[in-house]
Amino acid sequence: MKLYRADMHIHTCLSPCGDWGMSPKAIARKSRQMGMDIIAVCDHNTAENAGSAIRAGQNYGITVLPGMEICSKEEVHVLAIFETVDRALAMQAFVYDHLPGKNSPNLWGDQIVVDENDEVVDENSRLLIGATSLSLYEVVDKVNYFNGLCIASHIDRPAFGIISNLGFIPEDLRFSALEVSWRISMREAAGLIPDIAGFPCITSSDAHYIEDVGKAWTGLMMEAPTFTEIRNAFEGRLGRRIVHRDTARKEDG
Ligand SMILES: [Zn+2]
Ligand SMILES: [Zn+2]
Repeated sequence: MKLYRADMHIHTCLSPCGDWGMSPKAIARKSRQMGMDIIAVCDHNTAENAGSAIRAGQNYGITVLPGMEICSKEEVHVLAIFETVDRALAMQAFVYDHLPGKNSPNLWGDQIVVDENDEVVDENSRLLIGATSLSLYEVVDKVNYFNGLCIASHIDRPAFGIISNLGFIPEDLRFSALEVSWRISMREAAGLIPDIAGFPCITSSDAHYIEDVGKAWTGLMMEAPTFTEIRNAFEGRLGRRIVHRDTARKEDG
């Protein structure tokens, strides 16, 4: 087995708050430079750049997983990461059916759909930055229905996190993992948020600018950089496991 480095929360130029420089090709190149093996692209309420990111990743030897960061009606952000683009797009269709409003580029930013060579293909006109009308339970259930990894985003942050907005993590919500932001260590998070005990935890960059790609990552000890192996690592099955960064450096050899 080998230690893989995964940054599983990266926005592209399709997110209104994502920089124009966050093209699939630039993200793949920077991920490579930063020593990442696996990334997930998670734009706000959309996966339209995921296929391009996967193809760009192939050119740089990076495994890219298709995902999205869904905003529930409680304004809680949830990462939804899938094995295939088809499943991500099926989830996207469900999200789009429950996402009201139109984007105002001057107010929120541009939402650019690009191909793997950074050619502009389209502009998304939906209000991607907005909240869906879906409850947290509906989001989590649907992600699990499509066999996705369902991760509560940046649980330590004062905005759009499950703790800041609900105050606790309901026991019957079937999260695959929780994400602690790059701003604090896992130890600090455990001290601040006792609710996370017993959950697998990851950390990621939540990059909106190219210089942030790979600035935080989670070590995954596994046989191969595949979706199934990542799930095994989250669940601690078959000897696969999450290795946190403070210990990862030692194990990296
Ligand atoms: Zn978020
Ligand atoms: Zn994000």
